[in-house]
Amino acid sequence: MRVELADIISCENKEMSRQVEIELMSFESKLGQFPIVDRAPFVLKFTNENHKRLLIQGETEVTIAIPCDRCLENVDKKFPIVIDKEFDLTGSNVEKSMEESNYMIGTNLDVDQLIFGEILVSWPMKVLCNEDCKGICKRCGANLNLTECQCQKTEPDPRMAAIQDIFNKFKEV
Ligand SMILES: [Zn+2]
Ligand SMILES: [Zn+2]
Repeated sequence: MRVELADIISCENKEMSRQVEIELMSFESKLGQFPIVDRAPFVLKFTNENHKRLLIQGETEVTIAIPCDRCLENVDKKFPIVIDKEFDLTGSNVEKSMEESNYMIGTNLDVDQLIFGEILVSWPMKVLCNEDCKGICKRCGANLNLTECQCQKTEPDPRMAAIQDIFNKFKEV
């Protein structure tokens, strides 16, 4: 969704509150594509402060399904978003400061692009379904939180096998 801000920018001390919607259905980055499973309309407040500063403020929350780093099950990760942007309105700085942001197209605010940027900067380094997630078995792919696979029992870990060999050698001596 886009909001035209020309009025606010040209009108000293004007304030405007608008209910905006996030149209973004998924979050796409170089890490992959993740569905946005929950989002809600929220209010953005625009303020032209003495023709010096343009303020854009608002708060919302989006929920994105991200696979757990260990077991790959989707985790509903909440992203609280606090928007508090400021543009310099003095002299010729207006256009320049707006061009530097990737969510302003001229005097048009691209709400989805703004939200995208906020999610990007708060993207977690690691997502776990649970601190104690047991992950998946590297051999058979079983989710070890749900089931106990037989791999461990039938085939010992190669490192364990090496130790076992040493033990066996000792026995032979
Ligand atoms: Zn997990
Ligand atoms: Zn297994």
